Amino acid sequence: MPFKQQKTFRHFQVFAITITLFAAGGLTLLAMDSESKTSAKLLNEEATQATDEAGSAEEEFVPPTKAELRRKLNRIQYDVTQNAATEPAFRNAYWNNKKKGEYHCIVCDKPLFKSDTKFKSGTGWPSFFEPIEKDAVGYETDYKMFFPRTEVHCLRCKAHLGHVFDDGPAPTGKRYCMNSASMKFIEANSRKEK
Ligand SMILES: [Zn+2]
Repeated sequence: MPFKQQKTFRHFQVFAITITLFAAGGLTLLAMDSESKTSAKLLNEEATQATDEAGSAEEEFVPPTKAELRRKLNRIQYDVTQNAATEPAFRNAYWNNKKKGEYHCIVCDKPLFKSDTKFKSGTGWPSFFEPIEKDAVGYETDYKMFFPRTEVHCLRCKAHLGHVFDDGPAPTGKRYCMNSASMKFIEANSRKEK
């Protein structure tokens, strides 16, 4: 092949490889997107079913106003629960909390997680393999990162809690990666003693 043709051919090869890589990347993102959407949808269906079975007591909840929330919550609690911020890893209250008890919503006190479903994830955030009840939390697909994630919020007051991933331990395989700032820990028996 003459030199000029060889060069053109090489350019074409580079071009073709680039296009292929872009297409593969795009398809992967599309697949992840639909997987994440399906995941949020399925989890929400389970939560709705559980709510229907539990009755309509939840409907009486009156959400607090922004002013009330500003008074009740500190800055990080407000940013995480109301604006879906993420607290720093390891510099939060419960990532390494090994005490027995329940984690409740910081805004509305709804029980969300139990200490016996908490596991050491190494992420620096409190991690659980399942919520206390299926209707404790709701889900949404979140596009804040370049790949879609499944956002988790309190089903009663809609406070943002964190995200759920599919790399958790048995029996569920789920990793609920939560913000300590969204929750308050109620140590076992501590409410009875008071
Ligand atoms: Zn709540």
